[in-house]
Amino acid sequence: MAEREKKSGIYIHIPFCHSKCTYCSFITGSYEELLVENYISALEAEIRRKAASLLPSQKFVDTIYFGGGTPSIISPKQLERLLSTCLESFHVCQKTEITAEMNPSDLQKSRLEAFRQIGINRASVGIQSFIDLQLKAIGRDHSAEQALTAIEKLHASGFDNISIDLIAGLPDQTWQQWSYNLSTAFSMLPDHLSIYLLEIKEATTLYAQVKSGRVATPDQDLAAQI
Ligand code: SF4
Repeated sequence: MAEREKKSGIYIHIPFCHSKCTYCSFITGSYEELLVENYISALEAEIRRKAASLLPSQKFVDTIYFGGGTPSIISPKQLERLLSTCLESFHVCQKTEITAEMNPSDLQKSRLEAFRQIGINRASVGIQSFIDLQLKAIGRDHSAEQALTAIEKLHASGFDNISIDLIAGLPDQTWQQWSYNLSTAFSMLPDHLSIYLLEIKEATTLYAQVKSGRVATPDQDLAAQI
């Protein structure tokens, strides 16, 4: 492969969330307007700085991924600023896959259409479960109804490349509940499905809950079966 044909991916981290999920060990904070604005400006500078440190042949890009945290929490205008900075600083290929991780509670029509318009062409939605009790138990801020309608809303706003995430092995999860989550996910025909097995890490709320006996230790045999 010729040197100039080597392509890279850009990952941009948005470390803000609506609330803290009990199992989450990532460093994230709540959305605060000034803090987010300062973070976006710092990211723009960092994207330019990184690009300036590369040779022209190292600047070909064919994927851009906004992960988090919750990238859908920031405004389409702020995402557009970051994307424009990438476009100005790197050689972004025409068919570049541009993904944003999204929370089911952020999928309002106007917001999705704006994301689509600025060039986000792939959505990765953190569904985790289609059961309200489970979502509540792990501190997710969205409802089962929002999870169930996520793909429909994305399609209606022009997204045709959609990935969803589920978490397996939640505390008190039964085989039947897991089967329901999995078959519901399949019935929505996502383009991609990621399944994560729950890990209980120290310094999370879930760890303290399990340690104190307030939440049952997830059944390891069932997790293995899943
Ligand atoms: S949405 Fe994701 S990153 Fe944010 S608190 Fe929940 S698990 Fe952590």
